[in-house]
Amino acid sequence: MKTIFKSFLLISFFTAVTAITACSDASSQKQITPRNIIYLIGDGMGYGQLSTLIMENAVNKEEYEPSQVNRIKHMGISTTYSADNKVTDSAAGGTALATGEKTNNGTLGLNPQGDTLTSVLVEAAEMGKSTGIIVNTSILDATPAAFYAHVPERKLWDDIALQLSRHTFDILMGDGLMYFNDREDSLDLIQVFHNKGYAFSDSWEEARDLDMEDKMLVLTNFKYLLPQAVEKALEWLDQKDNPNGFFLMIEQARIDGKGHNNEIQGLIFEMDVMDQVMKIVLDYADTHPETLVVITADHETGGANIGYDGRPFFSTKGHTGSVVPVFAYGSGAECFTGLMDNIDIPARLRQLMSY
Ligand SMILES: [Zn+2]
Repeated sequence: MKTIFKSFLLISFFTAVTAITACSDASSQKQITPRNIIYLIGDGMGYGQLSTLIMENAVNKEEYEPSQVNRIKHMGISTTYSADNKVTDSAAGGTALATGEKTNNGTLGLNPQGDTLTSVLVEAAEMGKSTGIIVNTSILDATPAAFYAHVPERKLWDDIALQLSRHTFDILMGDGLMYFNDREDSLDLIQVFHNKGYAFSDSWEEARDLDMEDKMLVLTNFKYLLPQAVEKALEWLDQKDNPNGFFLMIEQARIDGKGHNNEIQGLIFEMDVMDQVMKIVLDYADTHPETLVVITADHETGGANIGYDGRPFFSTKGHTGSVVPVFAYGSGAECFTGLMDNIDIPARLRQLMSY
């Protein structure tokens, strides 16, 4: 097992080094400096999930309909193993995608020794970019939390919410209100955000009509409304019009649960939601050419594959160690091809942001 891990590490090192060379060469010719970065994560979205989307559109519908995958020219694959397991959970997977360092399953934003890790989202904020997180489950769940929290156990929701309140990201959209206003320590974190200049809403019906204020906090369950939430966030970021651009992290979090529950129709539905989100962000990159979109997954869930009926079937109710897709589109997309490890993705984002 140790030998396998060592060779994985060697592969990671090798791919990281080659990536830097490839990006540097490209930059010297073309000056790749994406102003805006959209980092879209499909929780549990492996190749079976992607095959589901493509097959539904290409084969199972009465007429062929291209999926958004058809638009993407720069593709790679990524390994997802964590520091202590060949099969990662979302906490270690999210930490790798957010910070560029591996950790143990269950841990968020800390390395296995307990040292604090910094995410690319926090670094983007420090560079003066506008920043945002959008997720269609709790904003305290492992994947979004990996971008701002540092806890040894992913279910420390009260601590994670408190840590989020110490940041000043411009747009926060997700579920989890009770950990902000009905806490065991009686702190009113909504008031904390309010004091920091946030406009707050717990209703999508209300939030969708709001204009961008200094900062926005929307705590509600977006479920299938993720595409509309992403559209709104991009509208707000355009209103903000930060000369340094923005870094927006989006998670379609609900693919994972369909894999865990082995729900065929549910998976088809959630991959369609993913396709709608991809359309919005790719369209945005088309009309805002200094934008880079990177799409990937923290891991695969369910061991999904396509059967003789053209529909998905599952081989487990857990996560798998299967490689996942990496798609890149727009400014700097050429830096995200070939075999990567999950920690290479934020390393490449850092490199592009630092030009
Ligand atoms: Zn899962």
